[in-house]
Amino acid sequence: MSQIESIYQHYLSNPVICTDTRNISAGCLFFALKGEHFDANTFAAEALKQGAAYAIIDNEEYLINDSCLLVEDVLTALQDLARHHRTQLHIPIIGLTGSNGKTTTKELINAVLSAQYKTFATKGNLNNHIGVPLSILAIAPDTEIAVIEMGANHQKEIEFLCTIAQPTHGMITNIGMAHLDGFGGFEGVKKGKAELFTYLKNTDGIAFINRDNPYIMEMSSVAQLAHLVYYGTVGENFVSGQLLKSDPLIELSWKKQQEAFKAQANLTGAYNFENILAAICIASFFELSPDQVNKGLAAYFPNNNRSQLTKTATNTVICDFYNANPSSMTAALGNISILEAKNKVAIIGDMFELGPETEEQHNLIAALAEKSGLDTVILIGKHFYALKDKFEGLFFNTPKETEAWLKENPVTDSLVLLKGSRGMALEQLLPVL
Ligand code: ATP
Ligand code: MG
Repeated sequence: MSQIESIYQHYLSNPVICTDTRNISAGCLFFALKGEHFDANTFAAEALKQGAAYAIIDNEEYLINDSCLLVEDVLTALQDLARHHRTQLHIPIIGLTGSNGKTTTKELINAVLSAQYKTFATKGNLNNHIGVPLSILAIAPDTEIAVIEMGANHQKEIEFLCTIAQPTHGMITNIGMAHLDGFGGFEGVKKGKAELFTYLKNTDGIAFINRDNPYIMEMSSVAQLAHLVYYGTVGENFVSGQLLKSDPLIELSWKKQQEAFKAQANLTGAYNFENILAAICIASFFELSPDQVNKGLAAYFPNNNRSQLTKTATNTVICDFYNANPSSMTAALGNISILEAKNKVAIIGDMFELGPETEEQHNLIAALAEKSGLDTVILIGKHFYALKDKFEGLFFNTPKETEAWLKENPVTDSLVLLKGSRGMALEQLLPVL
């Protein structure tokens, strides 16, 4: 038996993985991962003391008893274990990647599919080289379909994640200006995301394709995928749809074969239309009835600060502060500019990970915000602040300074967009709105 197979036997007797000694569950396998600022080998003894059944370590110095399993590299062992578990699961796995909309689409697909199947979907945003293996290892044996989010900020990452998740089906939500730095520009983003299509091509998998997106159409044709299921607004699609309304929540019509239906979702932002249509397409492909699809969509309420409409005591806030990049910022500004409200305010924060394009992209967004017809635009962070003499708007270096200003100058009776990169943590402004 290989070492991974023997760790897998321990996993089967209590399939819980922990990586943090602050939440150890009794009988778990503790994987001593390394971070930028820590080496969890040093916590192995503590994890065992707190009830972990085994600690997987890669530094002999911490080998204190038989409950420590020494491997060559803990991260690799975690990934190999997940890969092994995946091969024991004989189920469809839908792999999702793309620049924007992965988590939203994943949640929608899961909300709809769960009416008919025992599903699993990635929790939150666990979509990287650690999150994907943890997600796979969280799939229970009686699961019938899983939806796995795969994120990437450099080449070959999706290719690698595919070897772990081994998706049988896949979708690229869209291609945009995200992680330009790591991918080496827009063409690099396309190439990196297309690794999902290449994997599906090589494994005879099925891809769901947004016919309206020329980049995705191009990528699927380059990959020479054999099994394609289309969705979109025009052309011959498995599922076609039209956006009817997005003010403030989305209504759409959709059609499968010649039958037509209407659906509603509790999401704001016209850009969510394509995420919803993707979920309808995938759920219909897995044979959910139109009624189940529509009920599933209507019952889903986002609670993850992505396009979430929140009423505060004095304002309606579009909470979109989970993250930002130029594409999603453009979509969010486009959305608020068409929504009906007496007074509209955009509070936007710096966008990270743009590398050499940082200045240009902040310029473009500041220019867009200026001409979006909003009553007030507040721009926060050092990248935006550097543009304060070029554009109209209120500029602040930090959220703290903005908070102080908002306390003195409260915004009331307004529709407010609150959006910035994760590192800007703009949620700290919600209490003063
Ligand atoms: P991450 O890379 O952080 O995991 P993600 O791809 O999972 O992001 P979501 O979390 O679903 O994306 O959405 C993040 C934000 O992206 C949304 O709040 C919204 O502003 C924007 N967004 C979502 N869908 C789209 C879309 N189809 N086109 C453009 N922007 C979108
Ligand atoms: Mg996500």
